[in-house]
Amino acid sequence: MSRYRLIPSPDQEMLLRDQCAHARFVWNLAVEQWLWWRLGRTKAPGYPEQCRQLTEARREHDWLRAGSQIVQQQALRDFSQAMAKFFAGTHRKPTWRKAGRNEGFRIVAVKPGDVRRLSRKVGEVRIPKVGWVRFRRSRAVPVAKSYRVTLDRAGRWHIAFAAIPPSIPAPGSGHVVGIDRGVTVSAALSTGEMLNVPWPTHARQRRLRRLERKMARAKRGSGRRAQVKLAIARLKACQADIRKDWTEKTSTDLARRFDLIRVENLNINNMTRSARGTAAKPGRNVAQKAGLNRSILASCWGSLVRRLQDKAPGRVEKVNPAYTSQRCSACGHVAAESRKSQALFACVACSFACNADVNAARNIAAGHAVTARGGDGAARPVNREPQLLLLPG
Ligand SMILES: [Zn+2]
Repeated sequence: MSRYRLIPSPDQEMLLRDQCAHARFVWNLAVEQWLWWRLGRTKAPGYPEQCRQLTEARREHDWLRAGSQIVQQQALRDFSQAMAKFFAGTHRKPTWRKAGRNEGFRIVAVKPGDVRRLSRKVGEVRIPKVGWVRFRRSRAVPVAKSYRVTLDRAGRWHIAFAAIPPSIPAPGSGHVVGIDRGVTVSAALSTGEMLNVPWPTHARQRRLRRLERKMARAKRGSGRRAQVKLAIARLKACQADIRKDWTEKTSTDLARRFDLIRVENLNINNMTRSARGTAAKPGRNVAQKAGLNRSILASCWGSLVRRLQDKAPGRVEKVNPAYTSQRCSACGHVAAESRKSQALFACVACSFACNADVNAARNIAAGHAVTARGGDGAARPVNREPQLLLLPG
């Protein structure tokens, strides 16, 4: 994906918003049909059947007919792909798209003549029913067969060309690196390097808190509330951009420097699950866990590995994370007591001492599938698997 800032004129922006509304309408129709299917009342239609229904809907609704058929059909195709991913178990079930939140549409069958260059910094793209729309040509535009136009909550338009960038060649040095992802240190490397996602400045955090208080006081549906909401969205979008930039730079750097990159195999969805519990059985430390979840998500754990896999295909290995924080990377002794504190690891067997995150990263680099101390087959292991993210209750 190569993403650029789209700069539509006010007239074009209205047309783009219409297209977004059409795509959302069609998508939500598909979601609704699947809800019916869940109730077992009728057989859920597949993509060809939905296309026929779309033709009917276009005949009925003038505003829908005024829009691009490519956009609307593609929304259906995207939905059926989302369902396929859901059935494959890799993605969650597609849900409703909300106005102002999930705004975007996809254009396929893009021809090379649909994208042109106006100057060194400005490009233009032909969007059906909208015409030529300018974008900030921040770098070379790849040849792509499709693109997606989106509007984020901060009111910014983007165009992303779907092109798989060429992968980064391995340096061929035979160097292996292990990455331990954490909250205090975003990524500790087995080389001893500590990489950190840029955290929002204090001034920015203060401003966000102030805006959030203002938002809580503003009346629902008021113009003032919308204004504050946009300011919050802008602030958050800026921070997300900084994180994204860090992820891109870090993943490129790692892919260039190392032949093999090992990471722990973490299930971030499970780790960041809410601790809220149910009404009958409320969870403990809900607020703390929520804060921790935010930290994990802000640390870009998932996106870093995803981008590494894109840039260094076949060179990223996922290692079982069990005991990586308790095992001594020098002698291999596994003991919970070796982990002296959040930052310090000092082996109780060989007195090797090192930063705890770096020690874990070295274990990950070695790719050890560590077995529990005293755990021999049928016998119950003495050591429990470390529950890194359980809070003291
Ligand atoms: Zn040791």
